[in-house]
Amino acid sequence: MRKPFVAGNWKMNTDSQSSIRLADEIAARTMETAGDKAKIAVIPPFVYLPAVVKALGSSNIAVGAQDVYYEKNGAFTGEISVSMLKDAGCSYVLCGHSERRHIIGETDELINKKVTAAILGGVLPILCVGELFEQRKAGQTAEVVTGQMKKGFSGLSEEKASAVTVAGLTATPEQAQEVHAMIRKLVGQMYNWTLAEQMCIMYGGSAKPDNAAALMAQPDVDGLLVGGASLKAADFVGIIEASTD
Ligand code: PEP
Repeated sequence: MRKPFVAGNWKMNTDSQSSIRLADEIAARTMETAGDKAKIAVIPPFVYLPAVVKALGSSNIAVGAQDVYYEKNGAFTGEISVSMLKDAGCSYVLCGHSERRHIIGETDELINKKVTAAILGGVLPILCVGELFEQRKAGQTAEVVTGQMKKGFSGLSEEKASAVTVAGLTATPEQAQEVHAMIRKLVGQMYNWTLAEQMCIMYGGSAKPDNAAALMAQPDVDGLLVGGASLKAADFVGIIEASTD
């Protein structure tokens, strides 16, 4: 049984006060849900990680980072290592978010190094995959997502692969189901059906309190990666509640 996983990606938003306020409010409103009915995580900007970890205290809400660099330490100005994330209290890290793939220009090879380093360092990667709108229109979804999956998991043993959560990116619940079922089948081919069945595949893309239940009702949608709607505690908690009903 795959437990619903709802993660809020705050992107480049909040400041020191509003990040603590948001964390406090989410923790207070999810006391009964977190850890029991659902896995919940918030993913703030790097600089607010320690403050958010502190604000969440013993709430059972995990904290993730939006990115990581694969080297252990050294002359990599501006980068953050896996051990730094761990030290800051992170359990998860997004790897290959679409905004990093398409705005920053991250390649599948770089993303694979990040996924691998995260697993080796004890931080759970959330590997984001998904096609661009033009690629979907051109009927290239399966080809693009398959390529990202194979390259993202490249070199990972079954044991290491089991640490990965996949986040897909699509439009309607039916489209999400179609792509997620394809992703699960692919994991079955790349590894085996046991791993495929236990892998958490989240949906990412405009999840809101009013579409969360329909998305989560799809058999292969195991969780939601929430961007914009995770910045309001009431909306984020509404999504968690709709996902666990
Ligand atoms: C995201 O980009 O991580 C995301 C899910 O964003 P939004 O919910 O705002 O579409």
